[in-house]
Formats: sequence, C-alpha cells, structure tokens
Amino acid sequence: MINLASNELKYLTGVGPKRAEMLNKELSILTFEDLLYYFPYKYIDRSKFYTIRELQSDTAYIQLKGKITRFETIGTGPSQRLTASFTDGTGTIELVWFKGVRFVLDQYKVNTEYIVFGKPSLFNGHINIAHPEIEKISDSAGKGKIVLQGFYNTTEKMKSNFLNSKAVQKIIFNLISSLQERVPETLPGYLVKQFKLLPLHEALVNIHFPSSAAQLSKARQRLKFEELFYIQLSLLRTVKLRNQQTAGFRFAHVGDHFNQFYKQFLSFELTNAQKKVIREIRADVGSGKQMNRLLQGDVGSGKTLVALMVMLLAIDNGFQACIMAPTEILATQHYETISAFLSGMNLNVGLLTGSTKKKDRVQLHEQLQSGELHILIGTHALLEDNVQFSNLGLVVIDEQHRFGVAQRAKLWTKNDQAPHILVMTATPIPRTLAMTIYGDLEVSVIDELPPGRKPIQTYHYYENKRNSVYRFIRKEIEEGRQIYIVYPLIEESEKLDFQNLTEGFNQVKEAFPEYRISMVHGKLKPAEKDEAMRKFASGDTQIMVATTVIEVGVNVPNASVMIIESAQRFGLSQLHQLRGRVGRGADQSYCVLLTPFELGKDTKKRMETMTRTNDGFEIAEADLKMRGPGDIEGTQQSGLPFNLRIADLAHDSQMLQFARNVANDLLDHDPLLQHPEHLILTKQLQKKQKEAVDWKKIS
Ligand code: ADP
Ligand code: MG
Repeated sequence: MINLASNELKYLTGVGPKRAEMLNKELSILTFEDLLYYFPYKYIDRSKFYTIRELQSDTAYIQLKGKITRFETIGTGPSQRLTASFTDGTGTIELVWFKGVRFVLDQYKVNTEYIVFGKPSLFNGHINIAHPEIEKISDSAGKGKIVLQGFYNTTEKMKSNFLNSKAVQKIIFNLISSLQERVPETLPGYLVKQFKLLPLHEALVNIHFPSSAAQLSKARQRLKFEELFYIQLSLLRTVKLRNQQTAGFRFAHVGDHFNQFYKQFLSFELTNAQKKVIREIRADVGSGKQMNRLLQGDVGSGKTLVALMVMLLAIDNGFQACIMAPTEILATQHYETISAFLSGMNLNVGLLTGSTKKKDRVQLHEQLQSGELHILIGTHALLEDNVQFSNLGLVVIDEQHRFGVAQRAKLWTKNDQAPHILVMTATPIPRTLAMTIYGDLEVSVIDELPPGRKPIQTYHYYENKRNSVYRFIRKEIEEGRQIYIVYPLIEESEKLDFQNLTEGFNQVKEAFPEYRISMVHGKLKPAEKDEAMRKFASGDTQIMVATTVIEVGVNVPNASVMIIESAQRFGLSQLHQLRGRVGRGADQSYCVLLTPFELGKDTKKRMETMTRTNDGFEIAEADLKMRGPGDIEGTQQSGLPFNLRIADLAHDSQMLQFARNVANDLLDHDPLLQHPEHLILTKQLQKKQKEAVDWKKIS
C-alpha cells in the first residue's frame, strides 16, 4: 500500500528539487501527504461568464469569454509593462502584466477565443484586470467542466517564482492523477458507512477538484468530521484511561469545617449557580475518581468562594489544599480574602510567593510537611521541588490561561496519588473551545452573579467628547469613587504606546490638579508597581492611569468608572476583562470606550457588542466569530491537541458535538480500542500525536 507520508514531493513528476524546496520552506509541505492535505482556502464559481458591459470595479473574481485585439508594451527594463485590449462584443477592457512580458507574448495570440479570469479593478477611470489567467477555449473544454475552482494560499516568494495558486493546483492535479491506488481510508469502514461519509479518497479528490457544490460540501464534512473526531477521541481516551488508572481521593463526608463555615461565617446566601457547581464538585470528589474540573464564571460570580468551600471539604476529609495564582498581587489578594473568611475558624492558611522571606519560607515548608498548615496560597513558587505537602488532596488553579499544561502536570506529582484539580477561569471560553482545549476536563459554569449587583453601564464616545467624560469623572470622584483610565500597550509599538501613556498621564494631571493619581505600567519594578496599586486600593489616590497590567485580578470595589482610551485597539475579550475591574462594589459602575471618529466595520461591531451586553459568554462567542480561535488568548494552535486544517471552531460547533458523541460511544464499547476495526484508530492517533509534537518543535 502506498505510504503518502513517506514519499517526498521532489520525487513527483513536474516538481523537481527547486520547487520542492520552495514548497517546503514557504508552506512546510514536504511529502505527498502534506500536499494532499493542503486545501484551497476558497472556491470560485467558474460556470458563470460575465459580460464586459456588466463589469464593475468591485466585482470579485470573474471570467469573461472573448478575444485580444492588440498588445502594447510600455517602457523598458524592470518597469516595463504589457497591456492587451480584450473585447467580448459588449465592450473592451485592458489586461495588464508587469512581469513575464515575453512569456505572455509568446503564449497568446490576437483574434483567438480565450477565457480570461481575474479580479477587475478601476484604474484611471477604466476597468482593467492585472495578471489574468488565460485559457484557450479548447483547453478548458478538454479538461471537463470545472465548476468550482479552488484557490490556494501562496506566498509572495512563491508567486514571484511562478508558483501561484494555479501552479499549486496543477501539481496537486498531477499527484492525484499519478496515484496508482486509492488513498487508504483513515476511519473505520463501519463509521464511514453508518454516517454516510465520503470515503477519504473521494473526499480528497473533491476538496481539490469538486465535481459539484454538493460533492464539495460532502468532502468538507467528511474531512472536518475526521479532524474533530480524532481530537475528541484522543481527549476522551485520556479521560477514560485516567479514570481507570488513577484512583482519586474520596472526600466521603461533609464535616465540621464545611458546616461551621456555611452556618456561622458565610454572611450571604449562595447563588443557585454556586450551589449547583458545589453539588457537581462534591459528586466528583466523592466518587473515588480523580477530579479534573474547569470552573468558569465571569469576574465577581463567586468562584473563589466556591473554591474555598471545596477546600474546606478537603480539610474535613484529612487533606491539605492549595491555590495557585498567576501573579503575586492575585495570590496576596486570595490570601487576604480567604484569611478574612476563615478568621473565626481554627485553620492555618499560608502565603508563598517569590518574595516570601527565607525565614518564613523555611517555616512554611515545615508546617506543610507536618500537616499543620491546612491551606497554602501562592504563585509559581508552589511548584518548586522543596515545597512538599504532607497530604495534598486538592489543587485550585486560578486564571488557567496563564499556566501551561506542563506546569499543571508538575502539581499532579506533588503526591504519590494525584490530587483533585479545580481550574478556575474568569475568561469565558466558548463551548466549542472549551470542548477542544479543555476537552479532558469536566466543565462547571457559574452563570449567575450574586444578587444586588448593578450591571455595568457601558458607553462608546468619540475622543472629541473627552471633556464631557472628564466632567463625569469629576462628578464620580466628588461622590467618593475612584477611576481607572487604561491605555493600550502593545508590544509592536511599545515606544509609541509608552509615549501615549505618559502624555495621557500628563493630560489627566492637568485636568485634575486637585486629585492624586497613580500610574502603573509594565516597565515599573514589581515593588514600584505594588506600591502604586496599594495606594489606589487604599484610596490614597483617586485615579489610576494604567496599561493592561491591571487586567487580571485587581480588586478595588470602590472604583466605579473604567475609561478605556483607544478602545479600538483592544480585542473584545480584553475589553470585557478590563471592564470587569469595576462593578465590584454596591455602586452603579460605568465603562467608557473612547475611540477616534473613523472606525472600521469590525471595530464598530466590537463597540456595539460591548455597549449592548455584559454577558462574558456572549462576548467570547462574538470574539471567536470575529477573530477565529487562533487569536484568542491562551488558545493558540498549541493549545489544541492536533492541528486543525479545515474544521473551524467558530462555526463547526454542531459537527464538534457530533464528533464528540461518536468518539464517546465508541470508547464506551471499546475503551482500549482493541477491536480489529479500531486498530486504524490507534494508528492514526499515534501518527497525529507525532505530527503535533513535530509541529510544535518547528514553531
Ligand atoms: P470571582 O472569583 O468569581 O471573581 P469572588 O469569589 O471573588 O468572585 O466573589 C466576588 C465578590 O462577591 C466577593 O466579594 C465575594 O465575597 C462576593 N460573593 C461571592 N458569592 C456571593 C453571594 N452568593 N452573595 C453575595 N456575595 C457574594
Ligand atoms: Mg477571582
């Protein structure tokens, strides 16, 4: 049987070492298989012919049928160009070439019928097509009818070496025609039959050379299914093996600490969402399986409190618990909140960060090992080897996306037996992403805010309204509140951004001479940053001018206004995170988005979404649809188990759910994939894992 993955492209007729090298360098295409899986990014309907009379400059790719009436070369040397008049009887347009003049003149003749294909544009009041594709009528007839023509992404370098979309297509055509046998199937035959999928061979042929729109759609469905299915199979197999191989600590009973806290020290009623989530977690930690759970909930939805109650459950069952947070500020904040909650109870809580003094550190280590310390809160410092627990039963990780999977894994090994893991994130993750990136975790969602919170009111203003925004700021400060003003600081233009920030700071200082102002940005030393934060948190300063360093975790309930300067430069999820810094107290809070007047369509949509809703999930979905999964924080390709070539997490949620169900059913019947028909699955999983590893090494 042919092994497409081990045949290198340079051995394909018509490719040769030079083109092979270019395909490899520019597109990482090395083998027959790589090329077969390099799919078109769009298709153009070539069954329709336009007439020149109906052309407009903004028409997309079109094709015309007609004759060239004359050629004209203009200029000499590198700036030479060639024009041709082309007519179809309804009018005349110009075709233009800036390169390959000799080739074109050799190839095409006047007064011969051609099909011309390209994108019209307006130049000097006339419509022209630059570098059109041209085919003889007889050629196109001979090839059978191409209805939908695929277009392949190529790089500038490839194009200038005549390796454009059409050339790539031709190489793929050669490859497919030269295959002596069908491409071997990569799914069990019974699945292909049961779900009426196209066999792999047909799917690959039709994705490159669709015989009809319906066949193209079937090909896409089959290939998408396969991608999503293998990701889900891999994730769910991990879950099943973990459940089989690793026993979990059983938190069998609800004891004194949990009950005492709930009855005596909790001054408010839990929300229904909190109760539901605690029930889910209790079922998990009581089952004898090891819990791996993602807890999602918007800022302020009360995740920390849920985590605290689960920690009490761990303590009641004779275990220690820890919380790991991504920054020192956050860890300290957790420490303070939790210590305050537990102040009436006889429990020991410790804080361990990079700046914990040696003496305190040694003491913490001792108390941890003796079991005297019940709860340890900290940063990455918790991962150090000399941090040894006596009996760690539960690990809570806050703000997941800042921690890598490897770091998570390191905490796993702090015990002989893996502790329960609760990952908390305030970045709402669309369901499809959660199912893929965290597909090996169970998911709990707190979808309700504690009562009495007033939804944050969000407004979008143009920058010329800054003075009225300032008047509003003054009014709020006079009523005793505090204000954030945030500037973008994005790495590419760091210098310029920094200048904007300092100018902004001076402008604010001038506008509010009677108030005290803090400034925080990434260039401050940690101690300076902490000092500035502390001053704002304690109410010493009324205004905080900052970059996005304040995005995560800072909790100043008295701050009621968030002004975001140059809001057009932030992504939706980031805007939502920033907005979450206010609305944490009882006061009505506001978020003001300032932008220039001229805005693109996408930006307008972002501003509209922000002013319309406070729902983090809705915003995350919108963000995913607008930007695609690759750009969302923490969800770069490396967050996916395997590369996606065709499936699209923003739009294929139904297919994803379907693929997950199929994988789940299959594993229920054959958890170890031992059935002869399932050998192909193990083989494919191994292959994909290897590719995924290689891929990461390259990037
Ligand atoms: P998160 O970690 O999800 O951002 P927190 O647990 O920090 O949220 O809770 C935000 C604030 O709301 C805290 O001051 C917390 O004490 C309070 N809180 C949590 N749950 C409730 C509740 N059910 N009712 C009232 N206040 C609550
Ligand atoms: Mg929190």
